[in-house]
Amino acid sequence: MPEGWFSRELGRWYSWQTDDVFTKQALRLHPRPGKPLLVIDASDTGELVGWANIPHHLGTEATAVTGEPNAPINANPDCLQAFTYPFVLALHNDQGRSSKVLARLQPDYSRREHQREFSLKHYPMFQGAHNFFNYRRIVSTSRNNPFYGTSTLGDMTIVNWNCGNDWTWMNPPLLLNEPQIDATGQRQNWKGGLATIALRSAQEHALLFAEWLMKTQSKPTFPLMLMTGSQSPLGTTSGLSMVPYIREGRRIVGRSAYGQREFMIREQDLRKDLSGGRDFSRTAIAVTHYAIDLHGCRYRNWQPSDEATSAPVRETNIRPLQIPLESLIPQGVNNLLIGGKSLAVTHIADAVTRTHYSEWSIGAAAGATAGWLTTQAPRNLPLADIPKRSMPALQRYLTDQGLRWRW
Ligand SMILES: Cc1cc2nc3c(=O)[nH]c(=O)nc-3n(C[C@H](O)[C@H](O)[C@H](O)COP(=O)(O)OP(=O)(O)OC[C@H]3O[C@@H](n4cnc5c(N)ncnc54)[C@H](O)[C@@H]3O)c2cc1C
Repeated sequence: MPEGWFSRELGRWYSWQTDDVFTKQALRLHPRPGKPLLVIDASDTGELVGWANIPHHLGTEATAVTGEPNAPINANPDCLQAFTYPFVLALHNDQGRSSKVLARLQPDYSRREHQREFSLKHYPMFQGAHNFFNYRRIVSTSRNNPFYGTSTLGDMTIVNWNCGNDWTWMNPPLLLNEPQIDATGQRQNWKGGLATIALRSAQEHALLFAEWLMKTQSKPTFPLMLMTGSQSPLGTTSGLSMVPYIREGRRIVGRSAYGQREFMIREQDLRKDLSGGRDFSRTAIAVTHYAIDLHGCRYRNWQPSDEATSAPVRETNIRPLQIPLESLIPQGVNNLLIGGKSLAVTHIADAVTRTHYSEWSIGAAAGATAGWLTTQAPRNLPLADIPKRSMPALQRYLTDQGLRWRW
């Protein structure tokens, strides 16, 4: 069983060798003779983009560069959105066993420093509308109303909470930059381009949030326990997810389009109340709609973070976003498409495109575009140079595949 302590397991996770926990099967991809190879990077951090050093951005952009009204004055490549290790709490009296295990944890930063970040805000824990336990309840033994029903013994919730297990500190940031990838030898021996110290701190933060919840919120009628080991839905010894939820990865610099030499979807393209939004329908291959839901970054000592703190807005303030093909094709590489959140968006726009509907729409569009190029497109049409006159044919093909690219 995985330990659920990814900072220690990284090496084994990325190794080519099978071990007692992870089974590996090496795949070598190569084109058929005389045929081009098309690659899609649909990983959550843009792993191929990082490993191959394809032009990309990390963290925030400066307002002078993007023209985004709510971007910070200075760019900060370290300022990535928070990442999170989920865990599962059950309503079950384990006689304090899971709390005792957590009491043995010795975090790098003091317990008090972690605990200062924890809050339920104004939300009730177990009862009433919008209660914490129901927010992401995954097991309901009574199958009662998911919004208003009160949970009963045996119910389980998966915890993914802003003022809880979100790890916002960039001491150090989660993603290694290019010099760090070189210095750590990861070009030869790739391990995700991740900072193990950041992973460890986030793991400790999540487990301490579990401890805090059990200590401050458990009641005789609502006893909380942390689900660990083989009985845990997450299937790890620690009870944490095997890998964290990473909201922001590497973001490519897109192909020249819509008045930008280095295309990026930006805040003005999203907001109903800002001028400068562009119409991407000519080369649209997907569509999405969501709030600017930014889980911000900070430094431990609160020095200025260069986060776009004034950028978040609700969905009602956001226009449906058509995603143009140029945001999926990186600069300098003609046979790579992005199939997830590493597309060409700014830090602010990533807060829209990082969620489920967007990522799956982008992935489906990338896959279908690759299919169209290999089966339908005029012979040997290079991906990076799909002429504008071919876009209607590609868009028709996407529609035939059941995909949406207009609202
Ligand atoms: C706890 C949690 C809560 C969430 N809440 C919401 C929510 O409320 N609303 C919402 O819209 N979205 C939410 N999301 C986000 C949503 O789940 C994702 O947007 C969606 O699952 C992304 O799907 P995907 O297939 O594009 O990418 P992923 O599911 O991230 O898949 C990426 C895949 O790439 C693989 N991979 C990575 N590196 C490599 C490599 N080097 N080689 C080969 N494979 C690799 C990974 O193993 C993984 O299988 C949440 C996610 C989590 C984890």
